[in-house]
Amino acid sequence: MSAAIAEFDVAIVGGGPAGQTAAIAIAEAGFRTVLFAPETPPDHRTTALLGGSVTLLEKLGLIDAVAECGATMHTMRLIDDTGRLIRAPEVNFRCQEIGRDVFGYNIHNRDLNRILQERSLGLANLTRVSARVEVSHVDEGSITVQTDEGERFSAQIAVAADGARSYLREAAGIQLKSWSYSQSALVLDVTHTRPHGGVSVEFHTKAGPFVLVPLPGNSSSIVLVEAPEIADNLHAMDDTTLAREIERRAHSILGKFTIASPRQIFPLSGFTADVMAQNRVALIGEAGHRFPPIGAQGLNLSFRDVGALTECLINARRKQGDLGGDTTLNAYIKARRIDITTRTAGVDIMDRALLADNLPAQALRSLGLFLADRITPLRHLMMREGLAPTIGTPHMMRAERG
Ligand SMILES: Cc1cc2nc3c(=O)[nH]c(=O)nc-3n(C[C@H](O)[C@H](O)[C@H](O)COP(=O)(O)OP(=O)(O)OC[C@H]3O[C@@H](n4cnc5c(N)ncnc54)[C@H](O)[C@@H]3O)c2cc1C
Repeated sequence: MSAAIAEFDVAIVGGGPAGQTAAIAIAEAGFRTVLFAPETPPDHRTTALLGGSVTLLEKLGLIDAVAECGATMHTMRLIDDTGRLIRAPEVNFRCQEIGRDVFGYNIHNRDLNRILQERSLGLANLTRVSARVEVSHVDEGSITVQTDEGERFSAQIAVAADGARSYLREAAGIQLKSWSYSQSALVLDVTHTRPHGGVSVEFHTKAGPFVLVPLPGNSSSIVLVEAPEIADNLHAMDDTTLAREIERRAHSILGKFTIASPRQIFPLSGFTADVMAQNRVALIGEAGHRFPPIGAQGLNLSFRDVGALTECLINARRKQGDLGGDTTLNAYIKARRIDITTRTAGVDIMDRALLADNLPAQALRSLGLFLADRITPLRHLMMREGLAPTIGTPHMMRAERG
């Protein structure tokens, strides 16, 4: 280890959307922050940023840039395409019903990361280091991390935003409860001959969700969840055959499709960390939780980690407390427990109910959607809780409404 150590309040490891957003929010709150953000491989996914995430981006002054690159989403349409004996009615969630102009914006992850990077480069309190963190060590009152280039940095708290295979989580001794799904998601963009009208469509099939999410113009991002071998077969198809197959699965609701991007496959898995903070390390984003892409919940949940952690750090500073001490970490753990547990369980139940072949599971799933369709207050409650849950949405992510 070299002798020189640069000192900060907060060290954030990982420059994905969760880490970069945390770095901006925490530096904006006045903490001396260092972000470790090595180059990332291409990501062809998009993210539907909804409700509370939109409020956070507004407060960070980023929403105009996101809106410019993304597509607005006004309606979410759920269609039961399981072809099973008991089928749910189609349910349409419309943002106007709950007094909103939009649910949110769907944006390519690469554009979101670029917008965040540009913003982070202009912040006086934020230092960006484009190296990986390889070593960390907890001392009395601080944590020291070392990059693969041998530079050392110390901070009161380190934030693990280094994704599902987080080094920092492991170094902090945090274990996972993990499980697998025999599903993979095929991701790509398409253009189509009919307009999407700001409607995101989620077909529920026997193999998992098949989602068409609006992009600017007559284009959409596709997330097609299938058994891994079928997803691999689709991935290997030539453009014309794949476009035809996607159109067939979409029942031509958007007309004729043309493939408009490279394809990527994501094997699906789930986990939650046993604890969201320990040993001067707080977990955010996929370092702390992961589940299948149903209802666009993953990064939106991660943004609530960001908001909650920022508020815990501000509270600790107000009380002149230790940013990485047990009081701060326990406040963060408490702030995130219910939201992460209920969101992970909710998505897991939705996904497994699709795959389950037994009648009681089909009946229950269909009943839930039937009630959402018929009982207006329940539908409104589901929309509001989907956008910004009552328990778990940090104050800074709550919309100020008259
Ligand atoms: C098909 C699919 C569709 C999805 N759609 C949506 C959606 O519509 N809405 C939604 O909310 N969510 C969605 N999600 C979930 C969302 O994409 C993820 O939650 C999100 O990308 C995770 O972001 P992250 O910043 O936590 O992790 P990552 O994006 O994995 O970033 C981790 C970063 O850490 C860096 N890193 C790793 N190790 C180190 C190290 N040792 N030192 C320094 N840096 C390191 C990596 O280079 C990487 O940049 C989807 C997921 C999938 C699979």
